[in-house]
Amino acid sequence: MSSEDKSNLEKELTYNIDSAWKDCDEKTTEEIMKFSDDYKEYITEAKTERKAVIVAEKILREDGFVPLSEVDELDAGDKVYLNNRGKALAMAVIGKKDIREGCNMLASHIDSPRIDLKARPLYEDGDSLLAVLKTHYYGGIKKYHWVNTPLSILGKVIKEDGTHVDISIGEDESDPVVVISDLLPHLSKKAQSKRKTGDVIKGEELNIIVGGIPIDDEDIEQKLKINVLKILNDRYGIKEEDLISAEIEVVPSGPARDVGLDRSMIGAYGHDDRICAFTSMMACVDADQPERTSVVVMFDKEEIGSLGNTGAGSMFMNTFISELLDRLVDGYNYDDVQKTFNNSMAISGDVGAGVNPSFKSVHEMMNAPKLGQGLVITKFTGAGGKYSANDAHAEYVSFLRRMFNENDVSWQACELGKVDEGGGGTVAKDLSRLNIETIDAGPAVLGMHSPFEIASKVDLYETYRAYKVFLESQGY
Ligand code: MN
Ligand code: MN
Repeated sequence: MSSEDKSNLEKELTYNIDSAWKDCDEKTTEEIMKFSDDYKEYITEAKTERKAVIVAEKILREDGFVPLSEVDELDAGDKVYLNNRGKALAMAVIGKKDIREGCNMLASHIDSPRIDLKARPLYEDGDSLLAVLKTHYYGGIKKYHWVNTPLSILGKVIKEDGTHVDISIGEDESDPVVVISDLLPHLSKKAQSKRKTGDVIKGEELNIIVGGIPIDDEDIEQKLKINVLKILNDRYGIKEEDLISAEIEVVPSGPARDVGLDRSMIGAYGHDDRICAFTSMMACVDADQPERTSVVVMFDKEEIGSLGNTGAGSMFMNTFISELLDRLVDGYNYDDVQKTFNNSMAISGDVGAGVNPSFKSVHEMMNAPKLGQGLVITKFTGAGGKYSANDAHAEYVSFLRRMFNENDVSWQACELGKVDEGGGGTVAKDLSRLNIETIDAGPAVLGMHSPFEIASKVDLYETYRAYKVFLESQGY
């Protein structure tokens, strides 16, 4: 056997993947950079689930999508969306085929780990002479990531009379930021240096410094606290009790940035999972008229277990499909909803854990996602023997790889980490519970759940391309 035959045989029989950048000519690279710039703008703006819904609605309306409540009947080509309480959103492009033959669905989540304020957050600390906010973190964060970094305060206050006030401090360049300050190394020896990683900063130590000037009024006792309340009252017309009926999220301040001397990556807060929300939405906007109805959903609450009526564990999907059927099929009934689910296929779009050059031991390298290697297809997630996972069927995986290969999409088949190393889940299990054919697929990121997550631009683009061919496909 000649060495050429041998290498051909090897090529023919083995599954090999390489950097997705290798397949990019100059024109493709330009397209990737342009798409990345649009994404950076989106991810800089959409830092909370509420803002992600606002940005999505704007993009969808510009593309001709209308709220479902504004239409009584639907036909092929119609584009509609349903906003669930300003925190989750589902969109659809009606296909040529009967919806009961199944939809092509993409689902992601638009909530990200962050720091929330407590119901009664504000106090003044007489010893440090500072005004401080108490917090309760949201989702699985490493608490020590969130100290000594500029933070913004974003959210919504609903006053007693029902009026809404949008809070945004720290995103405008002229705004101040706030901060959680860590202990200096000089004095860490006893108080902190023996603590385990999870306790380096404890939950009750995630206190945000918000002020230091006492109000100039001899009759006032809590001068630092009242000064902060006065600033909030002047800017937003709110008082302390209003903070109880509020959702105020403290998130990393500032814009997304290019990362790497070659600008191959994007650093931003909240790639998990708004990178999948953006790519799935843009795929839906840009796709050709589909044969099968396209459904793209952005859920809330994934980071805290998908519970709550804006999460994937709610009846929102059933509601959305029912509302579509109501406008498509005369005298539809519940069987039609279930029939639609039974014939549908879905990608649960969520991020994978890319190999970090400094922490390779958590991965089994043959099955580990790598930045720049394209869409990560994760057949199963879960932990400790695939526990609590959706494990996609081989038949469905076969269909997907054929479709991606035919369309030259770069993809990699991976697992979350080494067996028994840890684990996690996505909204895949909530979709599969409805009897929808489901798999996980999205880009890999580094530093997941940190204030500055890293994603590769080529993976962003390949994810968008993969989602687009998926929506345009005929099903299987
Ligand atoms: Mn996620
Ligand atoms: Mn997450």
